[in-house]
Amino acid sequence: MKWTVKNEKVEMNFGRRRFSVKIVWNERKRLSITVHPDLRITAKAPAGYELKVIRERLEKRAAWIARQLDYFERFQPLPPERKFVSGETHYYLGRQYRLRIRSSDMTRVRLRGRFFEVEVPDPDKREKVRALMLDWYSAHARNLLARRLAEYLPAFVKKGAPEPEVRCRRMKKRWGSCSGKGVIMLNSELVKAPIHCIDYVIVHELCHLIYPNHDRNFYRLLGRILPDWERRKERLEKVVI
Ligand SMILES: [Zn+2]
Repeated sequence: MKWTVKNEKVEMNFGRRRFSVKIVWNERKRLSITVHPDLRITAKAPAGYELKVIRERLEKRAAWIARQLDYFERFQPLPPERKFVSGETHYYLGRQYRLRIRSSDMTRVRLRGRFFEVEVPDPDKREKVRALMLDWYSAHARNLLARRLAEYLPAFVKKGAPEPEVRCRRMKKRWGSCSGKGVIMLNSELVKAPIHCIDYVIVHELCHLIYPNHDRNFYRLLGRILPDWERRKERLEKVVI
């Protein structure tokens, strides 16, 4: 069977809000509405569903959409501006730590209990504190990401995947990528996420060594190695960096 698929945008008002919802018609049984962490709203409708019916359904769900937007707006913009002052929250492996800056002859960063403790001769030099924190994160990222990757890699090599070249650096827009030449790039900011989310990104990129595209084979392999990958991905979307 063939049908014309056309995509449209619906604008709607709710309280002081104005939503713009992208409608996608495709082969499916029921209407599903999704609010994405980047605040986009999409509605997937069964082919042939009339726009009027979709609008009615969206209106019924408007309060829920507004709540979802409220929730995700708390994490906007990503990443939030950090000031590197005592009392601020910073993340490591999904846990929150309070920043505590202390004046000391020494220069070092460590985790102590619920605190990120930074010792510096001059605590008011925020740029210095920031640089120390970034160094700490990237050192921990390199170490941890390499260890997690080593955990999963053998299974992929056994399946015939080429040994990848792995690089790690700070990226603004993505958690990881895998080039056609077998270079896996991981975002060092990943160490702010829980381990099970880090593993999801690593396994996702490793799957690309065998299947470059997000096709059925790719998802089958991903699902075999991490049956709960969707839950991990959802959690990752809520990570504040
Ligand atoms: Zn991918």
